[in-house]
Amino acid sequence: MDLRIVGGHPALDLANTVAPRQTGDDQIEFLSDPAALLAWAPRIGIVTGADIERVERSWSPEAALADVLELRSLVDLTLAGQDLDRLSRRWAAAMDRSALAPTSPVSLLVGTDPAWMIGDRLADALVDLLRTADLSRLRACPPDEGGCGFLFLDRSRNLTRRWCSMDDCGAQAKSRRLTERRRVRGGRSG
Ligand SMILES: [Zn+2]
Repeated sequence: MDLRIVGGHPALDLANTVAPRQTGDDQIEFLSDPAALLAWAPRIGIVTGADIERVERSWSPEAALADVLELRSLVDLTLAGQDLDRLSRRWAAAMDRSALAPTSPVSLLVGTDPAWMIGDRLADALVDLLRTADLSRLRACPPDEGGCGFLFLDRSRNLTRRWCSMDDCGAQAKSRRLTERRRVRGGRSG
């Protein structure tokens, strides 16, 4: 299974690295090892290929992965207003190591210590989400209708986006509805 990047914000993309997000089902862990983390981080736009080379030269892979998974656990909590002090401490550590630098298309933190760069930028992204995103547009791909629970910002004009992706959960829901309709029709004629 490929991981679709659908959150519309790096902090939500971080939350969406286990599928389905609701516990109890067989979950796929997309950040299963440090190599997976290195492959994923550039996909969500928080590091470049050149950054990754610097990270790889200086990081402690297991510690960096544990840091990122800890941050992932903070996404839901801090969105619910909990554990803000933990995020605050993690973010302060990131600020202490970093400086703002003009980059395209957004200003990214430039870690003076590439060993922690991925986690530092994710911590900053989570603070950015809480501070500046329009959370009235925050949705989850509906678990009670077979969706994966992935979080995303609905940027559609009429706030009509329901699924993480129309190619994935949206298409599956559609085919389930069709099967259901055929069964009902078949039942009537038979
Ligand atoms: Zn989904």
